[in-house]
Amino acid sequence: MYQRQYSTKIPDHAPEKGESFDQIFEDFKEIILPGMTHWQHPAFFGYFPANNSEPSILAEMLMSTLGAQCMSWLTSPAATELEERVCDWLRDAKGIDKSWKGVIQDTASTATLSAIITAREKATQYQINEKGFTGKEKFRVYSSAHVHSSIDKALKIAGIGAQNLVRIPVDENFAMIPDALEKAILNDQKAGFYPLCVVSALGTTSSTAVDPIGQITQITKKYGLWHHIDAAFAGTAMLLPEFQHLLSGHQDADSYVFNPHKWMFTNFDCSVLFLREPQFLINTFSLTPEYLKTQLDDSVNNYRDWGIQLGRRFRALKLWFVIRSYGLEGIREKLRNHLQLAQLAKSWIEKEKNLEILAPVNFNTICFRHGDTSISLEKQNQFNEAWMARVNATGKAFFTHTKLDGKFVIRWVIGQTDVEEKHIRNALSLLLEERKKLLEPIN
Ligand SMILES: *Cc1c(COP(=O)(O)O)cnc(C)c1O
Repeated sequence: MYQRQYSTKIPDHAPEKGESFDQIFEDFKEIILPGMTHWQHPAFFGYFPANNSEPSILAEMLMSTLGAQCMSWLTSPAATELEERVCDWLRDAKGIDKSWKGVIQDTASTATLSAIITAREKATQYQINEKGFTGKEKFRVYSSAHVHSSIDKALKIAGIGAQNLVRIPVDENFAMIPDALEKAILNDQKAGFYPLCVVSALGTTSSTAVDPIGQITQITKKYGLWHHIDAAFAGTAMLLPEFQHLLSGHQDADSYVFNPHKWMFTNFDCSVLFLREPQFLINTFSLTPEYLKTQLDDSVNNYRDWGIQLGRRFRALKLWFVIRSYGLEGIREKLRNHLQLAQLAKSWIEKEKNLEILAPVNFNTICFRHGDTSISLEKQNQFNEAWMARVNATGKAFFTHTKLDGKFVIRWVIGQTDVEEKHIRNALSLLLEERKKLLEPIN
């Protein structure tokens, strides 16, 4: 059992009297910092990054200093108008259709939930919002077998039910098979279900697999489903023209989310949801009580109507500072650098005996393992798990894992803001060193 180490150093009652900031800061350094995972360390290779950068930190400080509530245009007009601008900037820079509009949300989880509830309301002419479920709705939502857990959660919250998430088989590259999707929709129609929505992944969390966006859009268009594209991590790569073909055919999809707070050097939290027809979202979420009505409601965006929260932070400032400070060119240069480092690390792994890469390196995530087929799969998995734990225990680098076809693989995500070649070189040495120790017979 895990023993608490940090809270035991914190009194179990709140102080009655104020304390000096010096004391507070001392304790922050003594008690809190040793118990933090250092996401901004260039040898952080786990999950997906949650990058920050100087301009973004400065913007966060100004945002909290202003402490503005950006729920409607009137509550801070410049914040709303800046949000419109930076969303348009990103839309155009990413090659998303010019007619689409964006809104900033806290996380991709919230954005995806908003999209699914919107699909539900559009399909029922906003009746579930009004009257609740009748009990006859039998919605189905489709995604690849490698779907992110936020989709299951969204179906729970939206009243659709996690069991109504249909996981479509994937091909050898872990991408959704469009024919299998179409078959599943037809089967469900026959069985009396209502196929509502497809959530495709432009970069799965497991291995950054890319579902065929254009082909899926053709299917959703044919059968009248909502198509939500989850590009939470890899969406940032769409800032590079050489990746924009992955989006081709998205024009008739319905919504798209990506997280600048992952790979775009913008502090958590900041997620952008783009919609082909935001009116459906607004119809779903707007409810304007008398005290929030203004004379301008028809001519300006009131972003409180574009999602779940009423109160909203001034997140657009972070995007403005980051984009202006780096310039799109500067951002692209950094991304290309990360992508090149990932190719370099991949080439090193390929040269090592018994190391194997188990998924295409579409961006900057490498899924690899020590493969020794002379032992059972279970033993192989135990070995790789123990190996990763040893590496992480050194505190010199941090990795996380996934399972691909039942195989435990270490994910190496090379996208932290300041990562350089020396960091990945050291990380590989560390990996090999720890593997050697683990392979040595115990004497
Ligand atoms: C990270 C991730 C999410 C969840 O993002 P949050 O902003 O933390 O909610 C959803 N989908 C994919 C594909 C992700 O990689």
